[in-house]
This record gives sequence, C-alpha cells and structure tokens, in this order.
Amino acid sequence: MKVKTALLALLLVGALAAGASAQAGFITIGSGATTGVYFPIATGVARMINDANLGYRANARSTGGSVFNIGAIQSGELQMALVQNDIAYYAYRGLVVEAFRGRPTPKLRGMAVLYPEPIHILARSDRNIRSVADFKGKRVYVGDVGSGAEQNSMQVLEAFGLKVDDLAEPVRGSATAGAQLLQDGRIDGMFYTVGLGNAAITQAALTAPVTFLGLEPARIAQLRQKYPFLTAFTIPAGAYRGVNAPVATVTVLAQLATSTDIDTSTVYNVMRLLFDEKLADFKKIHANLERYFDLERSLDGMAIPLHAGAQLFYREKRIPIPAGIEAR
Ligand code: GLU
Repeated sequence: MKVKTALLALLLVGALAAGASAQAGFITIGSGATTGVYFPIATGVARMINDANLGYRANARSTGGSVFNIGAIQSGELQMALVQNDIAYYAYRGLVVEAFRGRPTPKLRGMAVLYPEPIHILARSDRNIRSVADFKGKRVYVGDVGSGAEQNSMQVLEAFGLKVDDLAEPVRGSATAGAQLLQDGRIDGMFYTVGLGNAAITQAALTAPVTFLGLEPARIAQLRQKYPFLTAFTIPAGAYRGVNAPVATVTVLAQLATSTDIDTSTVYNVMRLLFDEKLADFKKIHANLERYFDLERSLDGMAIPLHAGAQLFYREKRIPIPAGIEAR
C-alpha cells in the first residue's frame, strides 16, 4: 500500500512537471500556404518534436510566408519558422523590404539552411507572353500578403523596368488561389518563390496551358548585382509537366529560423533531434530535403546570427561557423 502511494505520488509529480514544461515550451512553427513546401515541412518538424517527447508541444501554422513569419518571430507570436535567407537578412538589418525598412528584427536567429527556392515564373501559353516584359498590362499573381515571394516578384519585375503598377492587376493571396486563378484563365501569369515540385505549380502545370519563363544571363547578372542573395538556378527538365527543357532562373534558400526568446537547450535539442538523431526521418519529410539538405552545407547562405543553441550543435559537430554569423 505504502509503495503504491509513493508510486502514485511520484507519477503525479512527474505529470505535473511534464505539464509545466509543456506549457512553458509551446513551439508554433510558421510556414506558408498549404500548397507550398514550408507547410508540409513545418508540419513534419512539429510531428517529430512531439513524437520525441522533448517536453515541448509543437504545431505548424499556415501563414502568408517569410515576411509575416519574421514579423511574428519578432512579436513573439511564433517561436520558429521557415523563411527565405534573403528576407531574413533584410529583416535582421532593417533593409530593402518595406515591412522592415528602418524596423529591424533583432530577435531573429538562424538554425539551418535547408534547400533552394527558385523563382518560378509562369505564363498562360494562350496569352502571347514570351518574357516577363510582356507582363506589362497583364493580370499576374505576385505572391501572398506577407510572403517573401512577393518581394522577389517585385525584384524581377524591376529588372525588366516594370513596377507592380504596370500590371493590369497584381493579384495577391495564397498560392493555392493563384494556381486556381491561372487554371481558370482569370490571370495571365504567376510568380512563386518556392521549392521544386510544390503542389501549387504542379497543379497549375497539369491543369492549364502554361509556359515557364526563363531569365537570360544578363538579366540574372543584373538581378544579382542589386540583390546578391539571388543566385542562378536551373529548373530541370521534367520538374513539371510541360518543362521539356531546363529553365534558367534565380533562387533564394529556405532556412529554419527561431527567436532569442527560445532558450539555448530547447533549440539545441531540436537541432540534435532533426539533424542528428533522426536525420533520416527529417529528410523523409519532403523530397526537397531528401535531395538538397546537407548538414555540412547548412550554413552556406546563412546571413543572420545563429541561435546560441544552434551554434552549440554546430560546434559539437565540428562544422565551421562562418565569420559574421556567430551567436550573439
Ligand atoms: N518562399 C515563400 C515565401 O516566404 C513560401 C514558400 C512555401 O510556402 O513553401 O514567401
């Protein structure tokens, strides 16, 4: 009887302790549209964190994308998020992107660079559009409100001497809606900065007559000069229906980010879980991780300081930390 009572007491204390830490350790992971790549990855990461019983509860949230996610990390609404490396840099420094210009986001910290996100540029084949220059006076989906993709659309338009106002109508909303409008012929083109093989572009290519527009080398050089985070990338033949030859474009990189609000051990534990103990499971979450994620290269393209817990993990793994991104 005595033993039983003691055991019960022990169980109770254990349950209380677990309850308390779970409450303290609630991790909401920001992503993007449900048909993007961020969302399935955030969902998979949340599931892995929950399954590992680390003492935190994690969940994924569908959002507008990088700009929203970084703002929400700064405000404390999100604890982790997938974000573009270009937008992360501008946000941390308070540059370029209107939402952050003069309003930097000092809480933002890096964890790992994951995979490339090429700028996909699509036009309906029945609208006489041969280049981005022909988007003038057309209805074009430019990205979600709060996406990094929207910023990239404006940058590419700018490289062709166009502004959003030169479009007949810049259409914003979820990429899911963008693909649907293209399919219905209610818009003429679409920009989307997203991992290869994502559901929105796949669906658009399957259901509508679309052409993937490429960028010439001179245009890529021009873009890179102004926006150095945009690097040359080739969408391989066969990536989508109708892509019979490689398409030259530019890419940014998706990264996992977090906040200085989160303590060192929490971030360290998540890093160890995803990128060490369960690396095989992590890569299985999405084809882009399977194809591109490499821990040895997960600091290439990182342009914001690391979280202290991430730095601890990289040091332990003897992965060199490039100058300028040390935890602070
Ligand atoms: N790169 C996009 C953005 O932040 C989101 C892509 C995705 O949801 O996979 O705007």
